Amino acid sequence: MKFEEYKIAEGIKTSISKLGFKKPTDIQFKSIPPILRGEDVLAIAQTGTGKTAAFAIPVLHTLQDRKIKGRPDGVKCLVMVPTHELALQTENVFRVLGKHTRVKSFAIHGGVDQDPQIKQLNKGVDVLIATPGRMFDLVSQGALQMHRIEILVLDEADHMLDMGFIKDIRDLMKHLPRKRQTLFFSATINEQIKKIAYSLVSDAIRIQISPKDPVAKNIEHAVAFIEMDDKRFFLESVINNQPDQKILVFVRTKVRAERVKKALDRVNVQSETIHSDKEQEQRELTMQQFRSGSVKVLIATDISARGIDIPDVELVVNYDLPESPEYYVHRVGRTGRGTNKGQAISFCSKEEREMLGIIEEQLGKPIYRTEISKGFYRDTIEASKENEETDWQSLLDQEDEFQKKKKKKNKKSKG
Ligand code: AMP
Repeated sequence: MKFEEYKIAEGIKTSISKLGFKKPTDIQFKSIPPILRGEDVLAIAQTGTGKTAAFAIPVLHTLQDRKIKGRPDGVKCLVMVPTHELALQTENVFRVLGKHTRVKSFAIHGGVDQDPQIKQLNKGVDVLIATPGRMFDLVSQGALQMHRIEILVLDEADHMLDMGFIKDIRDLMKHLPRKRQTLFFSATINEQIKKIAYSLVSDAIRIQISPKDPVAKNIEHAVAFIEMDDKRFFLESVINNQPDQKILVFVRTKVRAERVKKALDRVNVQSETIHSDKEQEQRELTMQQFRSGSVKVLIATDISARGIDIPDVELVVNYDLPESPEYYVHRVGRTGRGTNKGQAISFCSKEEREMLGIIEEQLGKPIYRTEISKGFYRDTIEASKENEETDWQSLLDQEDEFQKKKKKKNKKSKG
């Protein structure tokens, strides 16, 4: 079925075709009709499957012919998302798809001044995309009214729970009208998520995309056994072998992110980091540079990467294995978005083998092993610019100097 055959406003169809979407993705095919009928939906779909448009298209259609009177009469659809990045990205999808409608979409999130947000809310917003923290601030100040909400969307609900927003979501329910349509989207499902989902939806249509293989079919993902101290050489090699590709590198902590960046700096490979220690403004700038391609390598932590949608990331590198199988699915889902093909490679050290087993168990099958011969392993390390340019004498001199200073300091503190 093509988008042209859907019973949705012509203006929305124009935007869909301008985006180059020809036919709906699986999740769109399954969710658009029930959402248009006004039913509750409970969907298990990973990022990259086209899930944002799966709810944005029918929501925009439903709201587009509502009378928007002179006075703004409150938000009609609330989309809750876990992170700033996802809020901005979702706002963008609503704006682009809703360009030829009268629906006004707007995102609010923390980390920036709230006054312009309040001003915008007063002007009238139909679809509000919000992260929980700032939204509750504005509700408690009376700057945001919830009584007109007809549609509630919870996106990446599993991440919201991971990030400890469960109480916030429960509190939110007190402010919302009982009679409403609820659309619940999550990449993964477990008992806790099921419980919260069923407390929010009623008689929901259940949709699950590729239940057996949570990694989208168009993503080739593999694992390579590389020891912790050697990972930087292999990353350098992967990047240098595909100089034109956009590469997203995942690490476990922000400290590791900076460390990996430093290692790449040493071998003249340009990269940027994105993590929670960075100012919002800086994060947005980095994302812009990565999107435009002026930065080709982005090093990210799991939390900061939530909701990043860069359509043409060709490769995801799991420099560290993630802390949970859910994160694995989300990480590799950053490539192969929509109908594109994608690749992901995980560097697995001895210490991480156990985690690999847990991830594979959850995926229901082993991850393809990239064999690295002893010779290739050694060559990769030796080929590194780091080793090529190491001036051993100056390193030894530096170490000598450091030891001398340390001794001096110890003497002083004893004295
Ligand atoms: P999402 O899962 O919402 O993060 O979307 C992932 C990517 O898929 C985005 O880059 C969309 O632009 C793209 N996309 C969404 N729907 C379609 C479609 N019907 N055809 C092709 N690409 C799509």
